[in-house]
Amino acid sequence: MAEFPEEVVKKAFGASDGRCECLLVEHGHSYNSMCMRVLDWNKRGQSFKAPDGEKGWEAHFIVSPENGGKTTQENCEILCWDCYCKKNKKIKKFNSSFLILF
Ligand SMILES: [Zn+2]
Ligand SMILES: [Zn+2]
Repeated sequence: MAEFPEEVVKKAFGASDGRCECLLVEHGHSYNSMCMRVLDWNKRGQSFKAPDGEKGWEAHFIVSPENGGKTTQENCEILCWDCYCKKNKKIKKFNSSFLILF
């Protein structure tokens, strides 16, 4: 499983201005279908969940590695955990333990 180098994620996170970059209309975001949720660099990862219910974020492959996507900043989008899960629904369906063990 390909992963983004830390350096790439850092740059992508900086470029995102620390906000979720999801633009999917299907998610029903406000702000012209942009999510824009404010994220905390220290809260990366699927396991993160604060006691108040706040969730973390993850770096997402715009083009998946299986389809030739590279581990570059251009192919990296920063997503809040909710959007990340929605976009990875297919993987989740395929193997529900995948995301937990990832
Ligand atoms: Zn989002
Ligand atoms: Zn979204």
